[in-house]
Parts: sequence; C-alpha cells; structure tokens
Amino acid sequence: MIEKQGQRTNPPVNEWPDANGRYGSFGGTYVPEILIPALARLQQAVDERLHEPLFQAKLQAEASCWIGRPTPLTPARRLGERWGGELWLKREDQAHTGAHKINNALGQALLARSMGVRRIVAETGAGQHGVATAAACARLGLPCTVYMGSIDVARQAPNVARMQLFGAEVHSVESGDATLRAAIDEALRDWSHDPEGTYYLLGSAVGPHPYPYLVRELQSVIGLEARAQLYEASGRLPDKVVACVGGGSNAIGLFHAFRNDEGVELHGIEAGGRGMAMGEHGSTLTRGSTGVLHGTKSYLLQDSEGQIMETHSISAGLDYPGVGPEHAYLLESGRARYHSASDEEALAALAECAKTEGILPALESAHAFAGARRLAEENPGELILIGCSGRGDKDLGILMQANGGPGA
Ligand SMILES: *Cc1c(COP(=O)(O)O)cnc(C)c1O
Repeated sequence: MIEKQGQRTNPPVNEWPDANGRYGSFGGTYVPEILIPALARLQQAVDERLHEPLFQAKLQAEASCWIGRPTPLTPARRLGERWGGELWLKREDQAHTGAHKINNALGQALLARSMGVRRIVAETGAGQHGVATAAACARLGLPCTVYMGSIDVARQAPNVARMQLFGAEVHSVESGDATLRAAIDEALRDWSHDPEGTYYLLGSAVGPHPYPYLVRELQSVIGLEARAQLYEASGRLPDKVVACVGGGSNAIGLFHAFRNDEGVELHGIEAGGRGMAMGEHGSTLTRGSTGVLHGTKSYLLQDSEGQIMETHSISAGLDYPGVGPEHAYLLESGRARYHSASDEEALAALAECAKTEGILPALESAHAFAGARRLAEENPGELILIGCSGRGDKDLGILMQANGGPGA
C-alpha cells in the first residue's frame, strides 16, 4: 500500500455501482424492453469473464504488444516552471491510435468475441472511438459498423479515412444534432434490430448499466499505472489529479486508482466552449441538472421542459450533453470537483505545452491542461498529475484556423 502523509480532506468512497448499477441515485438501466435481454447477457459476460485470469492475461498481452502499454509518465518541468507547479503527464497520447479510447475498445471487442457475436456497432463523436473500435475489430477479425454525425464526419475527415482503412463501414448520420448524440441514437437503433448477434461497443463511461462500470474497469489501467509510476519516480502521490471530462471515461480511468487516497484531490475539467450561455458549452456537471439520457440517470444539459440542449466545444470529444453517472455521484458526494475551461483557455494551454514540452495534446486534453494551469496558479508548488488523454495531430486543421492557436 502506498500511503500519502498530510491532510486528509477527501473522504473515501464506497465501491460503486451497487447490484442495480446505481452510483448513489445515479446510473441504472433506462432502455427499451427489447434491449433488456442483451444487457443481461452483457452483464453475465462481465461477471463471468472480465476479471477472470485467462481473459485478463489475453487483454494484458494485447495491451502490451499492440497498444504499447504501459504508456509513459512524463515530468513537464518547463511547463511547470511557467505555471508554478510540479507537473506530471500521463501519456495516453502515446497509446496506439493516439488516445485512451483504445483501452476500452480492445477490452470490449475481446469480451464481444468471447460472447460469440457476429458483428460490432459503435458510435463516434471526434472519430477517435470509431478509429479505436475499427482498429480493435480489425485486430480481432470482427466486422464493424460505425455511426458518426455528419458534422463530425466533415470536421474529422482523416479519422473517417482511418476507419475505412481498418475495414469498418462508416454511416454518416444527418438527423438530430448531426453530432455524437444523433450517432448514439442511430447505433442504438441498429443494435435493437439484432440484439443477439450484434455487440454495441460504447465509447465512454455512459449508457445503461453495466457499460459505465465496464468502461471504468477497462480504463482504470490509466490510473493504476500512473499511480505506481509517479510513486516510483517521485516517492509520493499527487496533490491533485486533473482530467478532461466529455462522457468521462479517461477521467474515471485516471481517478479510480486514487479514490481512496484521502489526500489526493480529483478535478474534472469540462468544455466551457464560447461562454456559459445556453448552447455555447458542454459543461454538464457544472451547469446541468439531473435527468435520463441514453439509458442512464445522470447530469444533463437540458431546458426547463427536459429538451436536450445543443452543446458547443472546440473539441468534438467534449461536445456531449450528458456525462457518466459515476461522475454525477463523485460530484454530489464531494469526492471530485468539476470546473470548466473555455475554448480559448484550452487553445492557450495547448500552445504553451507544445512550445515548452514538445508535446501536442488533443484539444480535449488541452482542457485538462488549462484546468491544471488554474489550479497551479491558485496553489503554487503542488504536485499535479495531468491526464494527457490523446494527441493533437487530429486537430491540426482546427488549430491552424483558430485565433490564438499556434502560428497566430
Ligand atoms: C474522446 C476523447 C475524450 C473525451 O471522452 P471521455 O470519455 O470523457 O474520456 C477526451 N480526450 C480525448 C483525446 C478523446 O479522444
């Protein structure tokens, strides 16, 4: 056991979810009748196989030789000097396909294959989850169909090409908001046509039970590695752990290993977009209210009639009006704190990281950097662990256009 000395300000959390897939009053299973048997089969596969030694050995072998785990933990000394903290970066940008999403995609694809399904369907926003799923399906020999909003298809064209090279069929979704939310609706529709032969490979710690649990378990490798690597390198645990929150998978994956370290603060950073007016941001936990979306009870961005609101973020991966139920619980219990960073703050933090460390984070990850910068400036000298969830190469088009971006 690694013990951190000092103030104990963050009470330990219970082990969630409970048997009904609840995190406090959040989570659960809010789906059409037709999907209940498929979720029960998934639950059974999770219970029987996910932590079974043979399955874990297979997963770890692929994680090592194909994903490239463990990913590095990098001290960011020059950036830390500028911002006033001791900064360490957990480098999920170094994982195969360029982000943390591959941990989940590979794990679920292995589970799906062990369940004997015929094909995989998935939704994607930024395209990162689609790429990760298409790659994992290619690796395991599973046919794959990806739904993607037409706006995202346009702004993430290289990822569409990658998915197609990996042999996936990509469907552009014109309906609804034509981004991630519409793509999820379409993937759920596909799944409900053949819930026995099709596996729905969900991309974040959202959706009906057991997905938020399954995704957390598959992503918790991030925090387990980082906690051990940091202790090995510096002999201590962080004061603060900071991650960006879209659906919440990289954040919950990084937070989970630290949940019972009472001296470690957990901070999630949401998309502040262009400002805090309705429709201009993706700050679900800091600005939303409770409700049900895509099969789970959590915080949402909705109007007074319960209509889901449009969202905006410069990063497609944070442009979602819901959030995983475990984050809603961590917020209400006070174990984690949530803030937002604007498009502009994210761009500025990204530019500074690139110039001082030679690392180009994804625009999503740049929100975590912007949040860490504010925390470091508020309390200089602390050790802050930042989740660098992905690499920014996919965002070059946006970065070259953006005011204040590199070269501006
Ligand atoms: C998709 C994505 C995110 C947001 O998803 P979470 O489930 O909240 O982690 C964050 N960073 C990167 C690089 C992404 O691709």
